[in-house]
Amino acid sequence: MNTKVIRIDEQHMDTALIEEAGSIIKAGGLVAFPTETVYGLGGDALNPQSSEKIYSAKGRPSDNPLIVHIADMEKLNAIVREVPENAWKLAERFWPGPLTMIFYKSELVPRETTGGLDTVAVRMPVHPVARALIRAAGGYVAAPSANRSGRPSPTVAKYVIEDMDGRIEMVIDGGDVEIGLESTIIDLTSEKPTILRPGYITEQKLAQVLGEVAQDRTMMCADSGQAPKAPGMKYRHYAPKGELTIVDGEEGCVVEYINTQIGQKKKDNKKTGVIGTDTSITQYQADVCRSVGNRNDEAEIARELYRVLREMDDENVEIIYAESFGTVGLGQAIMNRLLKAAGHRVVHI
Ligand code: AMP
Ligand code: MG
Repeated sequence: MNTKVIRIDEQHMDTALIEEAGSIIKAGGLVAFPTETVYGLGGDALNPQSSEKIYSAKGRPSDNPLIVHIADMEKLNAIVREVPENAWKLAERFWPGPLTMIFYKSELVPRETTGGLDTVAVRMPVHPVARALIRAAGGYVAAPSANRSGRPSPTVAKYVIEDMDGRIEMVIDGGDVEIGLESTIIDLTSEKPTILRPGYITEQKLAQVLGEVAQDRTMMCADSGQAPKAPGMKYRHYAPKGELTIVDGEEGCVVEYINTQIGQKKKDNKKTGVIGTDTSITQYQADVCRSVGNRNDEAEIARELYRVLREMDDENVEIIYAESFGTVGLGQAIMNRLLKAAGHRVVHI
Protein backbone atom coordinates (compact mmCIF):
# COMPACT_ATOMS: atom_id res chain seq x y z
CA MET A 1 0.00 0.00 0.00
CA ASN A 2 1.19 3.49 -0.81
CA THR A 3 0.85 5.76 2.24
CA LYS A 4 0.00 9.36 1.38
CA VAL A 5 1.59 11.89 3.73
CA ILE A 6 -0.06 15.31 3.94
CA ARG A 7 0.75 18.31 6.07
CA ILE A 8 -2.10 20.19 7.78
CA ASP A 9 -1.47 23.34 9.75
CA GLU A 10 -4.00 23.74 12.55
CA GLN A 11 -4.01 27.53 12.10
CA HIS A 12 -4.98 27.32 8.41
CA MET A 13 -6.80 24.06 7.92
CA ASP A 14 -7.28 22.88 4.35
CA THR A 15 -10.87 21.62 4.42
CA ALA A 16 -10.52 19.74 1.13
CA LEU A 17 -7.67 17.67 2.63
CA ILE A 18 -9.65 17.02 5.82
CA GLU A 19 -12.60 15.84 3.69
CA GLU A 20 -10.30 13.53 1.74
CA ALA A 21 -8.96 12.03 4.98
CA GLY A 22 -12.49 11.68 6.37
CA SER A 23 -13.61 9.85 3.21
CA ILE A 24 -10.77 7.34 3.60
CA ILE A 25 -12.00 6.48 7.11
CA LYS A 26 -15.66 6.34 6.00
CA ALA A 27 -14.64 3.89 3.27
CA GLY A 28 -12.99 1.60 5.84
CA GLY A 29 -9.38 2.85 5.51
CA LEU A 30 -6.94 4.14 8.12
CA VAL A 31 -5.54 7.64 8.68
CA ALA A 32 -2.93 8.63 11.29
CA PHE A 33 -3.53 12.09 12.73
CA PRO A 34 -2.26 14.47 15.42
CA THR A 35 -4.02 14.89 18.75
CA GLU A 36 -2.92 16.90 21.78
CA THR A 37 -1.69 13.72 23.54
CA VAL A 38 0.13 11.60 20.90
CA TYR A 39 -0.49 10.75 17.22
CA GLY A 40 -3.52 8.47 16.72
CA LEU A 41 -4.19 5.74 14.16
CA GLY A 42 -7.80 6.33 13.13
CA GLY A 43 -10.44 4.06 11.64
CA ASP A 44 -14.26 4.01 11.67
CA ALA A 45 -15.11 2.89 15.24
CA LEU A 46 -18.47 1.48 14.13
CA ASN A 47 -16.99 -0.69 11.38
CA PRO A 48 -15.64 -4.01 12.71
CA GLN A 49 -13.34 -4.43 9.70
CA SER A 50 -11.72 -1.06 10.38
CA SER A 51 -10.90 -2.10 13.92
CA GLU A 52 -9.40 -5.34 12.64
CA LYS A 53 -7.26 -3.32 10.23
CA ILE A 54 -6.05 -1.15 13.13
CA TYR A 55 -4.97 -4.23 15.06
CA SER A 56 -3.11 -5.65 12.12
CA ALA A 57 -1.42 -2.34 11.14
CA LYS A 58 -0.17 -1.96 14.71
CA GLY A 59 0.55 -5.64 15.22
CA ARG A 60 -1.57 -5.29 18.35
CA PRO A 61 -3.36 -8.21 20.07
CA SER A 62 -7.07 -7.90 19.28
CA ASP A 63 -8.19 -8.21 22.91
CA ASN A 64 -6.61 -4.82 23.65
CA PRO A 65 -9.54 -2.36 23.40
CA LEU A 66 -9.49 0.84 21.32
CA ILE A 67 -10.55 4.31 22.42
CA VAL A 68 -13.46 5.83 20.46
CA HIS A 69 -12.93 9.53 19.67
CA ILE A 70 -15.84 11.93 19.27
CA ALA A 71 -15.92 15.66 18.52
CA ASP A 72 -19.38 16.60 19.80
CA MET A 73 -21.23 15.77 23.02
CA GLU A 74 -24.44 14.89 21.09
CA LYS A 75 -22.58 11.92 19.63
CA LEU A 76 -22.02 10.27 23.01
CA ASN A 77 -25.54 8.97 23.65
CA ALA A 78 -25.67 6.65 20.67
CA ILE A 79 -22.59 4.62 21.65
CA VAL A 80 -23.15 4.21 25.40
CA ARG A 81 -25.95 2.59 27.40
CA GLU A 82 -26.21 5.54 29.77
CA VAL A 83 -24.28 8.67 30.68
CA PRO A 84 -23.81 8.68 34.46
CA GLU A 85 -23.91 11.93 36.43
CA ASN A 86 -20.15 11.76 37.01
CA ALA A 87 -19.54 11.68 33.26
CA TRP A 88 -21.46 14.93 32.76
CA LYS A 89 -19.41 16.58 35.48
CA LEU A 90 -16.11 15.37 34.06
CA ALA A 91 -17.07 16.28 30.50
CA GLU A 92 -18.02 19.79 31.54
CA ARG A 93 -14.62 20.32 33.15
CA PHE A 94 -12.22 18.29 30.97
CA TRP A 95 -13.75 17.80 27.50
CA PRO A 96 -12.54 18.48 24.95
CA GLY A 97 -9.21 17.31 26.36
CA PRO A 98 -6.92 14.45 27.38
CA LEU A 99 -9.45 12.44 29.43
CA THR A 100 -10.91 9.06 28.40
CA MET A 101 -14.02 7.75 30.16
CA ILE A 102 -15.24 4.14 30.21
CA PHE A 103 -18.98 3.50 29.79
CA TYR A 104 -21.20 0.47 29.16
CA LYS A 105 -21.43 0.27 25.38
CA SER A 106 -24.54 0.33 23.21
CA GLU A 107 -25.30 -2.17 20.43
CA LEU A 108 -23.90 0.26 17.90
CA VAL A 109 -20.29 -0.34 18.97
CA PRO A 110 -18.86 -3.60 17.60
CA ARG A 111 -16.95 -5.88 19.95
CA GLU A 112 -14.01 -5.75 17.55
CA THR A 113 -13.56 -2.12 18.67
CA THR A 114 -13.83 -2.87 22.40
CA GLY A 115 -11.58 -5.93 22.39
CA GLY A 116 -14.60 -8.11 23.17
CA LEU A 117 -15.64 -6.06 26.22
CA ASP A 118 -19.12 -4.87 27.13
CA THR A 119 -17.69 -1.43 27.85
CA VAL A 120 -16.37 1.32 25.58
CA ALA A 121 -13.67 3.93 26.17
CA VAL A 122 -14.57 7.41 24.83
CA ARG A 123 -12.51 10.58 24.49
CA MET A 124 -13.15 14.00 22.98
CA PRO A 125 -9.82 15.48 21.86
CA VAL A 126 -9.19 19.23 21.72
CA HIS A 127 -6.73 19.29 18.79
CA PRO A 128 -8.44 21.16 15.90
CA VAL A 129 -7.17 18.76 13.22
CA ALA A 130 -8.40 15.74 15.21
CA ARG A 131 -11.82 17.34 15.73
CA ALA A 132 -12.23 18.27 12.07
CA LEU A 133 -11.18 14.79 10.97
CA ILE A 134 -13.59 13.04 13.39
CA ARG A 135 -16.48 15.13 12.02
CA ALA A 136 -15.46 14.48 8.41
CA ALA A 137 -15.23 10.74 9.16
CA GLY A 138 -18.81 10.47 10.42
CA GLY A 139 -18.34 11.19 14.12
CA TYR A 140 -16.75 8.05 15.63
CA VAL A 141 -13.04 7.39 15.15
CA ALA A 142 -11.34 4.47 16.92
CA ALA A 143 -7.76 5.51 17.47
CA PRO A 144 -4.97 3.92 19.44
CA SER A 145 -1.54 5.52 19.32
CA ALA A 146 -0.03 5.38 15.82
CA ASN A 147 2.96 3.18 16.69
CA ARG A 148 3.73 -0.49 16.10
CA SER A 149 2.59 -2.37 19.19
CA GLY A 150 5.05 -2.21 22.09
CA ARG A 151 7.02 0.78 20.75
CA PRO A 152 6.94 4.27 22.29
CA SER A 153 3.94 6.32 21.11
CA PRO A 154 4.78 8.85 18.38
CA THR A 155 4.84 12.53 19.32
CA VAL A 156 6.04 13.69 15.88
CA ALA A 157 4.92 12.57 12.40
CA LYS A 158 8.40 11.28 11.51
CA TYR A 159 7.94 8.35 13.91
CA VAL A 160 4.41 7.64 12.67
CA ILE A 161 5.80 7.32 9.16
CA GLU A 162 8.66 5.13 10.40
CA ASP A 163 6.18 2.68 11.98
CA MET A 164 3.23 2.89 9.56
CA ASP A 165 4.59 3.58 6.06
CA GLY A 166 3.02 1.12 3.60
CA ARG A 167 0.54 -0.18 6.21
CA ILE A 168 -2.14 2.57 6.17
CA GLU A 169 -3.74 4.91 3.60
CA MET A 170 -2.71 8.30 4.98
CA VAL A 171 -0.64 10.15 7.56
CA ILE A 172 -1.56 13.72 8.52
CA ASP A 173 1.52 15.59 9.72
CA GLY A 174 0.35 18.28 12.13
CA GLY A 175 3.70 19.03 13.75
CA ASP A 176 4.77 18.23 17.30
CA VAL A 177 2.09 17.25 19.83
CA GLU A 178 1.54 19.36 22.92
CA ILE A 179 1.25 16.89 25.82
CA GLY A 180 3.28 13.87 24.71
CA LEU A 181 1.67 11.18 26.91
CA GLU A 182 -1.58 9.30 26.31
CA SER A 183 -4.86 10.41 27.92
CA THR A 184 -5.87 9.71 31.51
CA ILE A 185 -8.36 6.82 31.55
CA ILE A 186 -11.12 6.73 34.18
CA ASP A 187 -13.57 3.88 34.55
CA LEU A 188 -17.11 5.01 35.36
CA THR A 189 -18.60 1.50 35.31
CA SER A 190 -16.96 0.39 38.54
CA GLU A 191 -18.47 1.06 41.98
CA LYS A 192 -16.07 3.96 42.57
CA PRO A 193 -14.67 5.97 39.64
CA THR A 194 -11.27 4.33 39.07
CA ILE A 195 -8.19 5.61 37.25
CA LEU A 196 -6.92 2.85 34.96
CA ARG A 197 -4.13 4.88 33.37
CA PRO A 198 -2.64 8.13 34.74
CA GLY A 199 -2.21 11.04 32.34
CA TYR A 200 -2.16 14.81 32.01
CA ILE A 201 -5.46 15.12 33.94
CA THR A 202 -4.11 14.18 37.36
CA GLU A 203 -5.77 12.31 40.20
CA GLN A 204 -5.90 15.59 42.14
CA LYS A 205 -7.81 17.35 39.34
CA LEU A 206 -10.26 14.45 39.01
CA ALA A 207 -10.82 14.39 42.77
CA GLN A 208 -11.73 18.09 42.69
CA VAL A 209 -14.71 17.18 40.51
CA LEU A 210 -15.64 13.74 41.82
CA GLY A 211 -14.59 13.79 45.45
CA GLU A 212 -12.94 10.44 45.89
CA VAL A 213 -11.30 8.54 43.02
CA ALA A 214 -9.74 5.11 43.22
CA GLN A 215 -6.63 3.89 41.41
CA ASP A 216 -6.32 0.59 39.66
CA ARG A 217 -3.87 -1.46 41.68
CA THR A 218 -1.93 -2.57 38.63
CA MET A 219 -1.17 1.06 37.71
CA MET A 220 2.26 1.61 39.27
CA CYS A 221 3.49 -1.89 40.07
CA ALA A 222 4.75 -4.77 37.98
CA ASP A 223 2.28 -7.41 39.06
CA SER A 224 -0.25 -7.11 41.83
CA GLY A 225 -1.41 -10.68 41.26
CA GLN A 226 -4.79 -9.24 40.23
CA ALA A 227 -6.35 -9.77 36.83
CA PRO A 228 -6.15 -6.45 34.98
CA LYS A 229 -9.42 -4.58 34.47
CA ALA A 230 -8.76 -4.10 30.77
CA PRO A 231 -6.97 -6.77 28.76
CA GLY A 232 -4.68 -4.10 27.32
CA MET A 233 -3.21 -3.37 30.71
CA LYS A 234 -1.36 -6.69 30.72
CA TYR A 235 0.76 -5.89 27.67
CA ARG A 236 4.28 -4.48 27.73
CA HIS A 237 4.11 -0.95 26.35
CA TYR A 238 6.12 2.04 25.33
CA ALA A 239 9.41 0.18 25.24
CA PRO A 240 12.60 1.17 23.43
CA LYS A 241 14.60 -1.60 21.75
CA GLY A 242 17.51 -1.32 24.19
CA GLU A 243 17.45 -2.66 27.74
CA LEU A 244 16.26 0.16 30.00
CA THR A 245 16.96 0.44 33.74
CA ILE A 246 15.68 3.24 35.99
CA VAL A 247 18.09 4.41 38.69
CA ASP A 248 16.46 6.04 41.70
CA GLY A 249 18.33 8.00 44.36
CA GLU A 250 20.12 11.22 45.21
CA GLU A 251 21.51 12.93 42.05
CA GLY A 252 25.23 12.63 42.81
CA CYS A 253 24.92 8.94 43.70
CA VAL A 254 22.81 8.24 40.61
CA VAL A 255 25.42 9.82 38.32
CA GLU A 256 28.24 7.87 39.96
CA TYR A 257 26.35 4.55 39.82
CA ILE A 258 25.33 4.98 36.19
CA ASN A 259 28.83 5.99 35.08
CA THR A 260 30.31 2.91 36.81
CA GLN A 261 27.80 0.65 35.06
CA ILE A 262 28.46 2.35 31.73
CA GLY A 263 32.20 1.79 32.12
CA GLN A 264 31.59 -1.94 32.45
CA LYS A 265 29.11 -2.14 29.57
CA LYS A 266 31.52 -0.28 27.31
CA LYS A 267 34.17 -2.90 28.07
CA ASP A 268 31.65 -5.48 26.80
CA ASN A 269 31.37 -3.42 23.60
CA LYS A 270 27.80 -2.38 24.29
CA LYS A 271 26.46 0.92 23.01
CA THR A 272 25.18 2.85 26.04
CA GLY A 273 22.68 5.65 26.61
CA VAL A 274 21.45 7.84 29.47
CA ILE A 275 18.15 9.65 29.90
CA GLY A 276 18.81 12.51 32.30
CA THR A 277 17.80 16.09 33.00
CA ASP A 278 19.28 19.48 32.08
CA THR A 279 21.45 19.84 35.18
CA SER A 280 22.83 16.28 35.25
CA ILE A 281 23.15 15.29 31.62
CA THR A 282 26.65 16.68 30.99
CA GLN A 283 28.04 14.52 33.82
CA TYR A 284 27.32 11.20 32.12
CA GLN A 285 29.86 9.23 30.10
CA ALA A 286 27.46 7.23 27.90
CA ASP A 287 27.70 7.10 24.09
CA VAL A 288 24.31 8.83 23.79
CA CYS A 289 23.16 11.27 26.49
CA ARG A 290 19.73 12.89 26.20
CA SER A 291 17.95 15.29 28.54
CA VAL A 292 14.17 15.23 28.95
CA GLY A 293 14.38 18.83 30.19
CA ASN A 294 14.22 20.67 33.46
CA ARG A 295 13.53 18.33 36.40
CA ASN A 296 11.05 20.89 37.82
CA ASP A 297 9.08 21.21 34.58
CA GLU A 298 6.96 18.06 34.43
CA ALA A 299 5.03 19.20 31.36
CA GLU A 300 8.33 19.42 29.49
CA ILE A 301 9.44 15.97 30.69
CA ALA A 302 6.09 14.48 29.59
CA ARG A 303 6.46 16.08 26.15
CA GLU A 304 10.05 14.90 25.65
CA LEU A 305 10.01 11.38 27.12
CA TYR A 306 8.80 9.34 24.12
CA ARG A 307 10.93 11.34 21.69
CA VAL A 308 14.03 10.60 23.76
CA LEU A 309 13.14 6.89 23.99
CA ARG A 310 12.79 6.82 20.20
CA GLU A 311 16.13 8.60 19.78
CA MET A 312 17.77 5.80 21.76
CA ASP A 313 16.42 3.43 19.09
CA ASP A 314 17.57 5.74 16.26
CA GLU A 315 21.09 5.51 17.69
CA ASN A 316 20.86 1.73 18.21
CA VAL A 317 21.61 2.06 21.91
CA GLU A 318 21.72 -1.37 23.57
CA ILE A 319 21.88 -0.47 27.29
CA ILE A 320 19.95 2.55 28.61
CA TYR A 321 19.87 4.09 32.10
CA ALA A 322 17.22 6.64 33.08
CA GLU A 323 16.94 8.90 36.09
CA SER A 324 13.80 8.50 38.20
CA PHE A 325 11.09 11.13 38.75
CA GLY A 326 8.65 12.03 41.52
CA THR A 327 5.16 10.54 41.36
CA VAL A 328 3.09 13.53 42.44
CA GLY A 329 0.79 15.23 39.92
CA LEU A 330 1.87 14.71 36.32
CA GLY A 331 4.89 12.78 37.64
CA GLN A 332 2.60 9.81 38.19
CA ALA A 333 1.90 9.52 34.46
CA ILE A 334 5.58 10.05 33.61
CA MET A 335 6.73 7.31 35.97
CA ASN A 336 3.91 4.96 34.89
CA ARG A 337 5.19 5.13 31.28
CA LEU A 338 8.86 4.99 32.24
CA LEU A 339 8.29 1.97 34.50
CA LYS A 340 6.48 0.17 31.69
CA ALA A 341 9.22 1.07 29.23
CA ALA A 342 11.74 -0.40 31.66
CA GLY A 343 9.67 -3.51 32.29
CA HIS A 344 9.75 -2.33 35.95
CA ARG A 345 13.52 -2.74 36.19
CA VAL A 346 14.49 -0.22 38.92
CA VAL A 347 17.68 0.09 40.96
CA HIS A 348 17.37 2.01 44.24
CA ILE A 349 20.64 3.43 45.53
P1 AMP B 1 -4.23 3.37 23.62
O1 AMP B 1 -3.10 2.40 23.88
O2 AMP B 1 -3.88 4.80 23.92
O3 AMP B 1 -4.94 3.12 22.39
O4 AMP B 1 -5.31 3.09 24.76
C1 AMP B 1 -5.98 1.86 24.81
C2 AMP B 1 -6.08 1.45 26.23
O5 AMP B 1 -7.28 1.99 26.76
C3 AMP B 1 -6.23 -0.04 26.38
O6 AMP B 1 -4.99 -0.69 26.37
C4 AMP B 1 -6.93 -0.15 27.71
O7 AMP B 1 -6.01 -0.12 28.75
C5 AMP B 1 -7.80 1.11 27.73
N1 AMP B 1 -9.18 0.81 27.37
C6 AMP B 1 -9.77 0.99 26.19
N2 AMP B 1 -11.05 0.56 26.21
C7 AMP B 1 -11.27 0.11 27.45
C8 AMP B 1 -12.39 -0.47 28.10
N3 AMP B 1 -13.53 -0.66 27.47
N4 AMP B 1 -12.24 -0.84 29.40
C9 AMP B 1 -11.08 -0.61 30.04
N5 AMP B 1 -9.98 -0.07 29.47
C10 AMP B 1 -10.07 0.28 28.19
MG1 MG C 1 -0.68 2.99 22.65
